[in-house]
Amino acid sequence: MNFENNLAFAKAQDEADILKDFRGQFLFPNHNNKNFIYLCGNSLGLQPKVANDVLKRQLDNWANHAVEGWFEGEEPWMFYHKELKKLMAPIVGASPAEVCPMNTLTVNLHLLMVSFYQPKGKKIKIIMEGGAFPSDQYAIESQVRFHGFDPKEAIIEVFPREGEEILRTEDIVARIKENSEEIALVLFGGINYYTGQWYDMETITKAGHDIGAIVGWDLAHAAGNVPVKLHDWGIDFACWCSYKYQNSGPGGVSGIFVHEKHFSNTKLNRFAGWWGYQENKRFKMEKGFIPEVGADGWQISCTQVMPMALYHASLQIFEQAGFITPLRNKSIALTGYLEFVINQVNKELNFQQYKIITPKDSKGRGAQLSIIAKEKGKEIFDGLVADYILGDWREPDVIRLSPIPLYNSFEDIYLTGQSLLKVSRKIINT
Ligand SMILES: *Cc1c(COP(=O)(O)O)cnc(C)c1O
Repeated sequence: MNFENNLAFAKAQDEADILKDFRGQFLFPNHNNKNFIYLCGNSLGLQPKVANDVLKRQLDNWANHAVEGWFEGEEPWMFYHKELKKLMAPIVGASPAEVCPMNTLTVNLHLLMVSFYQPKGKKIKIIMEGGAFPSDQYAIESQVRFHGFDPKEAIIEVFPREGEEILRTEDIVARIKENSEEIALVLFGGINYYTGQWYDMETITKAGHDIGAIVGWDLAHAAGNVPVKLHDWGIDFACWCSYKYQNSGPGGVSGIFVHEKHFSNTKLNRFAGWWGYQENKRFKMEKGFIPEVGADGWQISCTQVMPMALYHASLQIFEQAGFITPLRNKSIALTGYLEFVINQVNKELNFQQYKIITPKDSKGRGAQLSIIAKEKGKEIFDGLVADYILGDWREPDVIRLSPIPLYNSFEDIYLTGQSLLKVSRKIINT
C-alpha cells in the first residue's frame, strides 16, 4: 500500500475500513474529558462497553440462584467454560477440546511444564529466547531447579548476533540441532514482548520435533494478535493471557492448549484437582484421579465465573469481527502505516532519532512496533502521554506502540506521528 502522511489519507482509510464500527464498542481512557489515543492494547486491552452488563448478569445469577447457579439459570456455571472453548479455538487454530480457560498465565506455564518438561538421562535442557519476559524466565528457572538442575546448565538462551536486535530463525534452528542430545523442551514466547518479533513458530516447532523434543509456546503477545495454527503446526502445548490482545480485563483468565495427540497419554505428570476430573463423574467424589479427556483435564479449581464472563464477552466481539483474518488484514495495514509515519518523523529529524527494532516484514511481527529513541527516550514517552498518546515504556530504552485493529484508526496513527514530531522537536532542542 502507498501511504501518505496526511489527515485526508488517514480519514479515507478509516472510511473504507470494514471494521471501523467496532471502535464504538470500547471505552477509551480519558482525562479532563479528552480521550487518549490508546496504543497499549499489547499490555492491557480496552474495556468492551458490554463488560458492565455481563458482570451484572452474573451477579444477578449469583443473587437469584446462589449455589444452584452451578446447574440452573440460562448459563449454568458448570458448563460455562464450554462456551468459551468454542470461541477460543478459532483464535489460536485449535479444536475446542484442545483449549480451556483457567487460572492465569504464569500459573498455567508452570502446570504445563509439570506435564511437558520431563527431563530424562542426558535430555534435561530447556531452550528459550534470550530476553524472554521475566515471568517466563523465573518460571523456567524455578522448574529446572525443582527437578534438581542448575539453571546455568539446564537452560539454553538464544540471543541475537552481535549488533543485531532480532533473532534469526536459522540461528535458533542451529542451536536446537547442536544440542539435540540434551534438549528436552523448546519453549519460546510466540512474540517477544520487547522487540515485537514474531518467531517462525512452525519452523522452530519442526526443528524441536526433529530432535525428539517437546515444543511449547507462550502466546501472551500472539493470541488474538496474529494467526497461529497450533493444531496444524503440531505444537505440543501453549498458553496465553487474555487481557492483552483479547480485552478480558486486568488479571483476566488465561487459556491453555494441549494438542490432541497427548489426550490419551496417561503417563504425563499433572498437578490434579477436582475440576479436571472426568466431568460426568466429578460429583461422585470418588478416590483416585481420572482426568477428563482433553485440555479440560488440566483444570484444577472450579470455574472462575466473573473473569470468564468478561473473556466470553470479549470473545464474542472477535466472533462478530470474523475472528482473526479480517483483524489481521487491518492490523498489517495499521502497523505498516505506523511504521511509515514514524519513518516520516525520523526524516524530519535527519534520520538520527528513532530506530524501529521490530522486524519490517509483517510475517515477523504483529501489531507492535518497538522504537528506540537515540536521545531522551523516556522524556519523549512522557511528552507523548501528556499529549494524550498512550503507548508504553519498557526499560531500558524502548517505546512500544501497538495499534489494535478492533479499536484503533488510521487517524489515530496519523495524529500519533504529528504528536511524536512535535514532542521530539521540543524535547531534543531543549
Ligand atoms: C504478559 C506476560 C506475562 C504475564 O503473566 P501473568 O501470569 O498473566 O501475570 C507472562 N509472560 C509473557 C511472555 C507475557 O507477555
